[in-house]
Amino acid sequence: MTLSTSPPREFKCLVVEDSTMMRELLVFALSRIPQIRVTEANNGLDGLRKLTTGTFDILLTDINMPIMDGLKLVKRVRTDSVHKNMPIIVISTESAEEDRQRALALGANAYIIKPIQATQVIAKVRELLGLKA
Ligand SMILES: [Mg+2]
Repeated sequence: MTLSTSPPREFKCLVVEDSTMMRELLVFALSRIPQIRVTEANNGLDGLRKLTTGTFDILLTDINMPIMDGLKLVKRVRTDSVHKNMPIIVISTESAEEDRQRALALGANAYIIKPIQATQVIAKVRELLGLKA
């Protein structure tokens, strides 16, 4: 048996959220996954711009944001040649089943309702990245 000498893989995560406090909560939660490197954006358009700077492994996005909302962002990402298969977690205050269905229909992989629980966010990100707990 040989041991791998390659360094552990890093995963790039984009967090798109207009509330600074909420964004900090998400970044803090994600800091408990050592392999994750987080980039932050404060609306959908800012998120799209950040996506053009490299390749990302997962996207977490709020829905209600100025300039471009999260659902429009999901729609745009799913038609982007580089990121169309990237896992997306939508995080929203909307608890209506209709909103969840809409997000999933647009291509989101998961839907988390605020207030968030760090453990739930971490578990979902790990699951979608195929990381063991
Ligand atoms: Mg918001």
